[in-house]
Amino acid sequence: MLGESGILVSRLCFGALTVGPLQVNLALSQGAAVIRHALEAGINFIDTAELYDTYPYIKEALQGLDKRVVIATKSYAYTGEGMGESLNKALRSLGREYIDIFLLHEQESALTIRGHWGAVECLVKAKEAGLVRAIGISTHSVEGVRAAALIPEFDIIQPLINITGIGIRDGGREEMLAAIREAALLGKGIYGMKALGGGNLLDRADEALGFVFSIPELAAVAVGMSSTLEVDFNAAFFTNRTIPQELRARVNRQNRRLIIEDWCPGCGQCIKRCGAGALMLVEGRAVVDQSRCRLCGYCGAVCPEFCIKIV
Ligand code: SF4
Ligand code: SF4
Repeated sequence: MLGESGILVSRLCFGALTVGPLQVNLALSQGAAVIRHALEAGINFIDTAELYDTYPYIKEALQGLDKRVVIATKSYAYTGEGMGESLNKALRSLGREYIDIFLLHEQESALTIRGHWGAVECLVKAKEAGLVRAIGISTHSVEGVRAAALIPEFDIIQPLINITGIGIRDGGREEMLAAIREAALLGKGIYGMKALGGGNLLDRADEALGFVFSIPELAAVAVGMSSTLEVDFNAAFFTNRTIPQELRARVNRQNRRLIIEDWCPGCGQCIKRCGAGALMLVEGRAVVDQSRCRLCGYCGAVCPEFCIKIV
């Protein structure tokens, strides 16, 4: 149960970023088939965002499915008008009459939430009108969790949490865990993201998934999956089933990494966009510090030259 929202979710949430154009970029039918496989394996919870551009995959995966599925999405909108457009786009593109969970994307603190208050008011009205069931924020910051925990309008918080703390902007794993505990005590529904560090922790997947699975305050954990084998592996893991050796051997657990093509002219847009401080200009070209990169793919979305890929 996601806090006091009344929304019941599977502990494993399908993270839809991975199948889409910011990461693996599967064909529509392929990506939809992976999501459908997850839904048929017992997952009832999909996490996406307007930025991920994966609404078409989800809509396709839900065609003819006789199952209630919880969808969470997010928008960077900060005005009421902007959030209204984001909400309408989600409803239209997903073919739904309501969105279960609508979050402000990537909030850092009380200050940034205040700067988005027009968007919050829009979501509060949408909730009253039955167009949204629960609202809140996603955040990579300890301060974001702490701030959202104290805001009565918010039902849900989606924090970044993983075994090494990679990607947390303003602290480490233990500080984030403490903030999550405080928020849970205040009745917020919490589901984690980046359990595998966006792909950085794939070579120790068992340990990394085991860590998030053991956090009692997390009603669910969104894990990016791009193949039916990964779905089977994660579903078995989250239901404490033994993972067959053959499946373990077949799941490709190669670490992912971000690459920047040689033709980058050094416009700097990606550097401004990266909240992790993982990009810099060196001799007129963008260069990534892999140790800081959480493989969110957000820099790729702003690159006018299509130089950035996660492979
Ligand atoms: S370099 Fe790109 S993918 Fe890596 S953390 Fe920054 S924005 Fe995200
Ligand atoms: S946004 Fe693209 S073109 Fe601009 S610096 Fe970054 S990688 Fe290079």
